[in-house]
Amino acid sequence: MNQHDSERISGLLDADGLVSVQDESDADVIVLNTCCIRENADNKLYGTLGHLKTWKAEREGRQIVVAGCLSQKDKDSVQARAPYVDVVLGTHNVHRAAELMQYARTNGSITEIYDEAVEDEYILFPSALPARRGTSYNAWVTIQIGCDNTCAYCIVPAVRGKEISRPMEDIVREVTELAHRGVTEITLLGQNVNSFGRDTTLLARQAGGSNRVRPLFAELLTAVGAVGGIRRVRYMSPHPKDMRSDVLHAMAETEAVCEHLHYPLQSGSDRVLALMHRGYTANRYLERLKEARALIPDLAVTSDFIVGFPGETEDDFVKTLEVAAEADFDATYPFIFSARPGTEAATMTDQFIDPGVMAERFARLNLVVERSALRKHQERVGRIEEVVIEGPSRRGENVTSGRTRQSKLVHFVLPTPLRAGSYALIEITRGGRHHLEGELREVLFESTHRTNVPFSVVA
Ligand code: SF4
Repeated sequence: MNQHDSERISGLLDADGLVSVQDESDADVIVLNTCCIRENADNKLYGTLGHLKTWKAEREGRQIVVAGCLSQKDKDSVQARAPYVDVVLGTHNVHRAAELMQYARTNGSITEIYDEAVEDEYILFPSALPARRGTSYNAWVTIQIGCDNTCAYCIVPAVRGKEISRPMEDIVREVTELAHRGVTEITLLGQNVNSFGRDTTLLARQAGGSNRVRPLFAELLTAVGAVGGIRRVRYMSPHPKDMRSDVLHAMAETEAVCEHLHYPLQSGSDRVLALMHRGYTANRYLERLKEARALIPDLAVTSDFIVGFPGETEDDFVKTLEVAAEADFDATYPFIFSARPGTEAATMTDQFIDPGVMAERFARLNLVVERSALRKHQERVGRIEEVVIEGPSRRGENVTSGRTRQSKLVHFVLPTPLRAGSYALIEITRGGRHHLEGELREVLFESTHRTNVPFSVVA
């Protein structure tokens, strides 16, 4: 979400006549789009701002902009700590970036943070905002902002506000426009995508409309998957407590929807899940997973874990290992717990786990997951997989990387280069823990688009 906001800010500045440069010494403007999900975001921000103070003093007219959820959280304190920052904006007024920079040029520095989403063009017509996307063949598409959940470790509800769904027709229109521009793969983005539409149908019910909360995310998947030219649809992230059969059926029945489910478990202990306020049990999670695998052949499943949540005992952690083994994941993204100021978990200091214990548990969890990942990847040897070309691999000069529908990274050598966004059939020759290797069998579709060099996100 944060990276997509960066794309939108870049697009707005492009539309305002600015041109991106690779070297900060050539720049007139630097935007730091912060993300406080990351650890030490504030240290990184203020460290970078300290360095940029000199950069700004070197040339008249330079501007520094700080955006994102850290500025939303810290409000006036960014300019109090770094008064030379020209513009501070929050998560609800990304669309104002260019106007605020213009304002600051004539009137001096400004902080503008909206406490809640406002009914403006960003919410109602986000596709009207230009976006400079990092690649030409795939795109993130926001379907919802904010989150109505209260996970004890998470700062998102505080900095992104309550859940607001975008109108479905607006999303489909954006996807159609992207397809016309040559995008073949889209990722629907939201904090809790499978509750998409719940807010709008509840509002409709309050207004005397239908009593039925419609299964809007399933409908959205079907509608987006039907857009001509879109070969792959992905989404992130669903919440296990809101996963319903209709979504799994829509995945199974919509050809473009990829056979990949990122399904964040976080912990295998019901006690810890309750402390986290996750709203499901390990059993319910496993049952839904079983249903998903029965409906969707060759489904890859990945997950997130938080290791060492305050109060997690050895027994709790063993349950996590057991559930992880039973879930038979293709990959996971485990995080060692670290407190985010402003969250409930950050106040549970008397139950914090020793860092050494957390590191040891982290390693044990990785062992369990890597075992299943390696076995699954080795089972793919000999198969022919459809792969979208991502570009040169870091593994060697002649090696190219691509991604399968299951979101698995594949490395292979091409006799002649193919542009990013091209599709090919690759025979898998080797399976490692984190990637596959293969050989080209057939080029399916050659992209004619150039890919921009992706920009980096600072904090
Ligand atoms: S569902 Fe939980 S973890 Fe995800 S954004 Fe909402 S509060 Fe955070």
